[in-house]
Amino acid sequence: MSDLRELYQEVILDHRRQPRNFREMEEANRRLEGYNPLCGDRVTVYLQVKDDVVQDVSFQGMGCAISTASASMMTELLKGKKVEEAEVIFKHFQDLVTGKSDGSDGVGKLVVFAGVSEFPLRVKCAILPWHTLRGALKQQADAVTTE
Ligand code: ZN
Repeated sequence: MSDLRELYQEVILDHRRQPRNFREMEEANRRLEGYNPLCGDRVTVYLQVKDDVVQDVSFQGMGCAISTASASMMTELLKGKKVEEAEVIFKHFQDLVTGKSDGSDGVGKLVVFAGVSEFPLRVKCAILPWHTLRGALKQQADAVTTE
């Protein structure tokens, strides 16, 4: 288990060092900001949605390793997915980081966040990009906050 934990940590730190899809998207047709006041994480999620498919997704922001890695892996995972699939993955991810599931169910590489469930304050860091994404998909007008 500790080997696995180290591996998970490495994946998270790798995404922290080199976040994927970390850019402003000028052609985005959805965009939303999210804020986690407990940690100070700020994220902006950009989406290009067409025919109910996430054609492209990117993010920008400043946050801790967990929120940055979560956003980075989220963008990798969701590109090309249907909006309804994104919703299902969100649900699975939420269950994973709150300890309701072990991640064997539908989260793919995001299983590296399993350990987060042991740290209640970190759950909000991990989930922030996802809540922001969800708000953006629903074309919510107000910024997302985890509080
Ligand atoms: Zn954080």
